[in-house]
Amino acid sequence: MKKKICQVGWKRPSKCVDGLTARFVGVLFTLLLLWGGDARALEAEDWVLDNGLRVILVNEAKAPVVVTQVWYQVGGIDEKEGKTGLSHMLEHMMFRGTQSVPAGEYSRIIARNGGEDNASTSWDYTDYWSKLSSDQLDLALELEADRMHNLVLDPEKFRSENLVVREERRTRFESNPQGRFFEKFKQHLFQDHPYGRSVIGSMRDIVNYTVQDLEAWYYTHYTPDNAVLLVVGDVDFVRARALIHRYFGALPSGGGNKRVRLPKDQNVVGGRRLMEQDKEAMGSVLHVAWLVPSLTFGRTEDVYPLDVLAAVLGGGGSGRLYRRIVVEQKKAVSVQTQYGGTSLGPESFEISLEPRDGLPVAELEGAVLSELGAMMEEVVSELELQRAKNGLLADRIYAMDSVDHLAGMIGRLAINGLDWRAVVEHYPEKVQEVTGLQIRDVMRRYLSREKAVVGVLMP
Ligand SMILES: [Zn+2]
Repeated sequence: MKKKICQVGWKRPSKCVDGLTARFVGVLFTLLLLWGGDARALEAEDWVLDNGLRVILVNEAKAPVVVTQVWYQVGGIDEKEGKTGLSHMLEHMMFRGTQSVPAGEYSRIIARNGGEDNASTSWDYTDYWSKLSSDQLDLALELEADRMHNLVLDPEKFRSENLVVREERRTRFESNPQGRFFEKFKQHLFQDHPYGRSVIGSMRDIVNYTVQDLEAWYYTHYTPDNAVLLVVGDVDFVRARALIHRYFGALPSGGGNKRVRLPKDQNVVGGRRLMEQDKEAMGSVLHVAWLVPSLTFGRTEDVYPLDVLAAVLGGGGSGRLYRRIVVEQKKAVSVQTQYGGTSLGPESFEISLEPRDGLPVAELEGAVLSELGAMMEEVVSELELQRAKNGLLADRIYAMDSVDHLAGMIGRLAINGLDWRAVVEHYPEKVQEVTGLQIRDVMRRYLSREKAVVGVLMP
């Protein structure tokens, strides 16, 4: 992406997140229901233009601002060996000029009008957004429609932007010990699945892209019928509909979806280890992960128990691993858990710890796996469970106190073909329904010692 690169790290952050250390929050449910424990219907509409563009409008008029997003169904999973990172390169080029808007001018226009904008590329999608005062929706839509259809892929500008992407890769991976480690870890975890590839692409591929590669990618994937347009915030539906018809209505359809089909199952080869000694590493890291379901992959009914489990284990200063491993046993100085749930393919359930100075990482690994093993023989108490749920729901309420988050959540669900309304509106009750027995069952089913993929980074 042009300003901060994002989505090219080892995890799928919820939005353009600074740095590789994507926040350890459940990506799925960054969906903090502003409405406390009860489901509440959003004022929204969801329809499709004749050319196939899906349109979602959500009126959340907390402030006179509007977030406009365009999500394309193209990302790392669609790329071939030899052309990895092409989606991300194209994301950069989307700011380098169209037939009517000169290079760099897109963001200057948005800024001159008091707004902000950015974009990100992930394995599952590429998305663009702007935030402006609600009376400027016209401008946001005109600019997005323009670059959906009129991009100019100028060879000179491509060459200079390609250098920017190489530098981005160097900064985030080649010159970053954690970046190097997590890129390898992801390959280790997902193996031959497309999620094992880096979204930014290999340096060899980045250096070898041609303008023709980008043209082919753009004309194939950047079409109305391969995109979702989302307008969230202070939205007058009648006016928004008219503007969308005006700017997007005449764009030609691309003739159908070009998305690759992901494998419906993924071979889980546990017991794999990645041991990395890196002189430049600031400290040791123990990272343990398992492949688990998402809302589109595997046993979808296990998604909410896994989400609550991440909170039971991590859960800030009150989670089980924090209390046992950090406070009582003093074997680690930090612990974080992460589970998403909205990806198109398998998800990862991850636990990351920094060992106490001088403690052998193997000892920490033994302690963590023993604790998990013990939890598989018990049912977590009602008190512990409720505390985790409360934390989860409170976090969500806080995070969702912005239209950006709400829009990001809806977009991520919609672009992956999920029923965004059901997920958004019923999240609190789905969380509340999770039982201690379900927590124990998903631990037994997925988080065994045998299925763990363990990564160790040591200075
Ligand atoms: Zn970038």
